Amino acid sequence: MNDCLFCKIITGDIPCSKVYEDEFVFAFRDINPQAPVHVLVLPKEHICCADKIDGTNSHLVAKCFEAIAKIASAEGLTNGYRVINNCGEDGGQTVKHLHFHVLGGEKLSEKMA
Ligand code: 5GP
Ligand code: ZN
Repeated sequence: MNDCLFCKIITGDIPCSKVYEDEFVFAFRDINPQAPVHVLVLPKEHICCADKIDGTNSHLVAKCFEAIAKIASAEGLTNGYRVINNCGEDGGQTVKHLHFHVLGGEKLSEKMA
């Protein structure tokens, strides 16, 4: 966990452009945005990936989605947006701390992959 990039961002050891924080959730702008709005939303508790969501931590996922609705509103995404999770190697996950990409601010591609 000490080696986790996103844990270091949450603690402030690595700087970020923070957009939201509460007791359970942290969110910041992606360093390499794929849309006009591209925010990463993650639980403060280190969960490596969606594959490890279970009955002990799924409430943190719910907290993420509560935050996503607030962030989308604050970012002006009134016409909709996309939430993406990449899980594991085939899913293209590069940072092994569960996170949800929130993309919007334009009409997104209809392609999912
Ligand atoms: P993944 O590929 O794991 O689903 O998404 C990781 C995301 O983290 C990528 O979109 C990448 O641009 C973003 N990212 C990687 N390193 C940093 C960083 O140091 N700061 C920020 N803000 N985003 C990062
Ligand atoms: Zn972490």
